[in-house]
Amino acid sequence: MIFQQQLRIPGPTPLPERVTRAMARPMLDHRGPEFGEVLRDVIDGAKRVFETSNDLLLLTSSGSGGLESAVANVISPGDQVVAAGCGMFGDRLAGIAEAFGAEVIRLLSEWGQPTDPDDLAKVLSDHPRAGVVLLTHNETSTCVGNDIASLARVVRDADRISLIDAVSSVSSVPIEVDKNQIDVCVSASQKGWMAPPGVAFVTIGERAWALNESARAPRYYFDWKRHRDLLRSSSTPWTPAISVVYGVQEGIRMLEEEGLPQVYRRHADLAGATQAGLSALGFELFAAEGYRSHTVTGALPLPGLDLAAFRTLLRQRYGVVVGNGQGKMEGRMFRVGHLGAISAGDVVQVLWSIEQALEEMDLAPADGRGVQAASSFINRSARGGA
Ligand SMILES: *Cc1c(COP(=O)(O)O)cnc(C)c1O
Repeated sequence: MIFQQQLRIPGPTPLPERVTRAMARPMLDHRGPEFGEVLRDVIDGAKRVFETSNDLLLLTSSGSGGLESAVANVISPGDQVVAAGCGMFGDRLAGIAEAFGAEVIRLLSEWGQPTDPDDLAKVLSDHPRAGVVLLTHNETSTCVGNDIASLARVVRDADRISLIDAVSSVSSVPIEVDKNQIDVCVSASQKGWMAPPGVAFVTIGERAWALNESARAPRYYFDWKRHRDLLRSSSTPWTPAISVVYGVQEGIRMLEEEGLPQVYRRHADLAGATQAGLSALGFELFAAEGYRSHTVTGALPLPGLDLAAFRTLLRQRYGVVVGNGQGKMEGRMFRVGHLGAISAGDVVQVLWSIEQALEEMDLAPADGRGVQAASSFINRSARGGA
């Protein structure tokens, strides 16, 4: 009997009971003072998580909607933009820019590798007319965490505008929007924020607003100015996903009760433990060492492992849901999400289930190697040694 699906995919993530309860509250008039207070609280809290005093808009959409809003509000048809991508989400952002008529210059990294700051600097100097640079903080498809501080600095030094997909990192990994002088940064509720899908966050710096003045791409629902104007009276131009906003409010409270430094440390630990456990079981990790994501870990199958059957067994027998590969790695790797309301015991449960599945598939004995490696990692880290 599976009592509850254990979501170990990189979003949506498991909901803490406090969040579920918060979302059961009755609807409020979304133009009234009571909801206005909720909205202000969420926006102020989200700004603390992004570490920014820039404008922050809350949009009712998935993360891709937040990214589309960013493109539509700073890019004009015919503009040159540089898209530095290292996986499927980088491709998606470049595709959005193309759909809005931009001439996209792509800097592509090999899958599993990060975006290289020196390569980016070179592309920017080769393309002086490219005003906006599209970047991915955490490339969920390849499980790569980019060095966003270095990349943002390159963009800044070249006097361009950074537009960053940080959907699967913010609230799990520090982004420091103001310190890194990031112009536009996007995240979404169903990742580390511990809330359901439905809300995207966009931070917008002054230089991005200046660009917005002249940007001519068509926009209406996602027109940032309409959102900013209504936010002054603590409202939104369209009916927001009220229940999801309640959930995000409670999620942010929980993040701040734990303390953001501890939240970041927990995610680093969960990543390290997952990497250690999978490696001990003989899996090859997909992302390059030194650039492995803190929110999702990807591994290649052991020789002879039928990935589809393996994932089905994990889901049906153990209730553990891990992600498929994406894009060209679909059916060729699996991804374990460890972001949001996840603790060390949850990672151990995944590894224990993987061991059981491998034994059942006659590939390896379930001798506790993976569990042991993950536990040791957590213990060493708790003693300050990891
Ligand atoms: C999840 C995710 C998105 C957004 O996906 P939606 O399904 O539109 O919410 C964008 N970029 C990255 C890196 C992601 O992980």
